[in-house]
Amino acid sequence: MSLKKTEKIWHNGKLINWDDAKIHVLSHVVSYGSSVFEGIRCYETKQGPASFRMRDHMQRLVNSGRIYRMENPYSAGDLSAAAHEVVRANRMNSCYVRPIVLRGYGDIGVNPVNCPIDVYIACWEWGAYLGKEALEQGVDMCISSWSRMAPNTLPAMAKAGANYMNSQLINMEAKTNGYSEGIALDVNGYVSEGSGENIFVVQNGIVYTPPLACSVLPGITRNSIITICEDLRIPVREEMIPREMLYIADEVFCTGTAAELTPLRSIDRITIGAGKRGPVTKGLQDEFFAVLTGAKPDVHSWLTAVNAPVGAAAPVGIPVR
Ligand code: PMP
Repeated sequence: MSLKKTEKIWHNGKLINWDDAKIHVLSHVVSYGSSVFEGIRCYETKQGPASFRMRDHMQRLVNSGRIYRMENPYSAGDLSAAAHEVVRANRMNSCYVRPIVLRGYGDIGVNPVNCPIDVYIACWEWGAYLGKEALEQGVDMCISSWSRMAPNTLPAMAKAGANYMNSQLINMEAKTNGYSEGIALDVNGYVSEGSGENIFVVQNGIVYTPPLACSVLPGITRNSIITICEDLRIPVREEMIPREMLYIADEVFCTGTAAELTPLRSIDRITIGAGKRGPVTKGLQDEFFAVLTGAKPDVHSWLTAVNAPVGAAAPVGIPVR
């Protein structure tokens, strides 16, 4: 996916030019992976762009920083306002927003405490991550030969740059072998997550997803889908999932800001269910996209108009996608 440059990037409180958002090669993050970040979508609406669960993403960013003793001077509210500022500055209608908090240039040992903390927020145009047709037809995935991080090694609840070294191994292996994406097991052999997506299984009308203890990122989309299941009175359970349960499931789908809600049609070349998007997946997709398009009311205040003050939880009326 090539990167489409925009004009401005937010850096420590100021908007700077895209090309000036550079770091020194000896910044701590380059050698030691010391960064935490987020990925957020803004959707086009009749009132202009609206961000999806901006505040929750920024709170996860603040939490990720806290886990790594990487406190930045900005609150989740400040960061949400800054993200909206950068979307406005770049005159984007729909886009992907990428805040990054990193340990900068200053000291070269492993101990990061003398390095400055830099905060950047960029945005750019981004379509369907796994391909537009994937949302309907589903994708082919494999079980990775790589496991997700063991508990008490790299904390999975933090969205840290370093975790994505593991994600890259999972993703590259899958792509090399002709799959769209890989699903990692945790160190105990239970289903964990994709390189950038949470996993859900549907069996006999019950929706299952691995609990946070299975080394998964607490996905904002995962949480949204659990909430939608509860709203629709579809039984939903956070339970450990044995690998073989995937192969015999009625439906499997994955969720993420980039992937949105994408069905899986096969895993390890074993057809899942009927080999196409199943009815529960379709129902959840319809409900999820209905909120984003304004076809259904945004009862959980998940959308915030980019032009409105953060915290006002401005309703965005009837958006178009
Ligand atoms: N797991 C991993 C490893 C991810 O990178 C992502 C994407 N942020 C997710 C799950 C899904 O999280 P979210 O729904 O918050 O985008």
